[in-house]
Amino acid sequence: MAGLRRVRRLILVNALIFAVLAAAVALAYYAFSFVSNETSRYRERAMRDLAAEKIFNIEASILREDQKLFGSPLPLETFIARLPELTKDLGVMSVFVLDEQRKLITGGYYSARLGQEGTSFRDWFLKAVVPDLPLAGRTPETRGHRHAIWGGKPYLFSFVKKLSVDKKPYYIVIEEHLPNLVAFVFPQYFQNFEESNRIYQVVDRTDPHVVIYTDTGLPIEPGEGAIGVLEPFVETVDMWQVRVSERNEQVRNEMARKRLIDSLLIGGAVAVMLSGLLVLALAIRRERRANELKSEFISNVSHELKTPLSIISMFGEMLANGRTKGPEQSHEYAEIIWRESVRLGRLIDNVLDFAKIERGMGVYEFAETDVGEVVERAVDLVGRRLTTAEMSIDVDIDPDLPHVKLDANAFTLAVMNLIDNAIKYAADGKKVVVKLTRQGDRIVLVVRDFGPGIDPEEQEQIFERFYRARAVRLKPIRGSGIGLALVRHIARAHHGDVTVTSTPGNGSTFQLWLPI
Ligand code: ADP
Repeated sequence: MAGLRRVRRLILVNALIFAVLAAAVALAYYAFSFVSNETSRYRERAMRDLAAEKIFNIEASILREDQKLFGSPLPLETFIARLPELTKDLGVMSVFVLDEQRKLITGGYYSARLGQEGTSFRDWFLKAVVPDLPLAGRTPETRGHRHAIWGGKPYLFSFVKKLSVDKKPYYIVIEEHLPNLVAFVFPQYFQNFEESNRIYQVVDRTDPHVVIYTDTGLPIEPGEGAIGVLEPFVETVDMWQVRVSERNEQVRNEMARKRLIDSLLIGGAVAVMLSGLLVLALAIRRERRANELKSEFISNVSHELKTPLSIISMFGEMLANGRTKGPEQSHEYAEIIWRESVRLGRLIDNVLDFAKIERGMGVYEFAETDVGEVVERAVDLVGRRLTTAEMSIDVDIDPDLPHVKLDANAFTLAVMNLIDNAIKYAADGKKVVVKLTRQGDRIVLVVRDFGPGIDPEEQEQIFERFYRARAVRLKPIRGSGIGLALVRHIARAHHGDVTVTSTPGNGSTFQLWLPI
């Protein structure tokens, strides 16, 4: 039941982590595509506005010129008489003044084409073009225009209907100077600056491949990633349209840079999230494991407290009741009581010290000390237990060791824990070797036993709090799993460390070192 619940919680946590990750990636993708869409939309809008503005200005300049003739207040006869003079500075090719029947009024023709060419153009215009112009039925004084192909060539004609003094209608038709428009007016408006990343072109409205005007020798079509917009002329050359496009290589560079920055930012954000989730997952796992170990620890400690207590009370009761066979047995019982109470005291010491360390309290008091002496004292303290376990001990302490700063009580506890473990787990080996030497700028304490050794997989884990090796969990060897954690904590508090080397079946060697 509990197992099922745990599995369900595990699945939920993992699903949640996955969901957060998916949401983060989706958000990143959304941000990326939104930003890139928005910038290209913005660029396109800006270019469209630009094209519209250019068109407006060009058409306004043509309309302004037209208006000088179309809006002339002169009576018809005077207008005709002064036609060459009025037309002189305007960018027009020809001007025709037609009567109600759309016949040329005498003298009502001016042209930049000279001589014979002018005459034949006039005749051709009256015959071929006039029937195509929507002159009849116009509102007086409103300008009209027609941009079309006649005889294979494009022409732009602007026209207006006017009323003479006696209310008779007549028409003024202007043939605009298209070569002039392309050669001089367009370049004025479509100036191509070096630093500008835009290209202007005028292309055919039905077939944008037909280029009327281009401000540069660059390719006509916008390249990959570049944007091009098309805007038609409205009131003049409406067979044509303006194309604004971005210079390819500049756009490409800019896009590449933007893409790089975007990917770096988004990638970085995702990486941060990922590592956050990873840390979280690890923390959850570690916490779960610590909790499991903690409950195991509580049951171990309770067990460890109970056993010596029941031994003490049992033998104490026997002594109290005088149920002994003589002073020798009394002595033996008292010794058992004494041994068990010492063991109890050590366990309580361990637990209390460990609790202090867990709460992060400053528990160490350092002083210049002779390490050799400290180790000797620790060996003395465990001497009796060694004898009881029928083990011998070899102690080899380098007499010339320098004094170091250490907490003697804590260090004694560490040494005793190491020797105690050898007694507890390696009594079969019959022997413990304790060696204290100097190695370079370190003082190294070696505690070697000849017991069953430690599985390589567990050699790092045994230093974790509450951890007990698989091999001993099933055996009736008492332990709480905090001894080695305490040893490591003490070693590190002295800026040293503790390590183990062991081959199963061949004993273990614990090395505790301190810097000098
Ligand atoms: P405890 O002895 O209370 O279980 P420790 O932290 O002192 O806790 O030791 C952790 C584990 O390391 C022990 O449970 C045991 O499995 C293993 N261990 C420690 N010392 C030895 C040793 N000398 N030989 C074999 N195993 C050992």
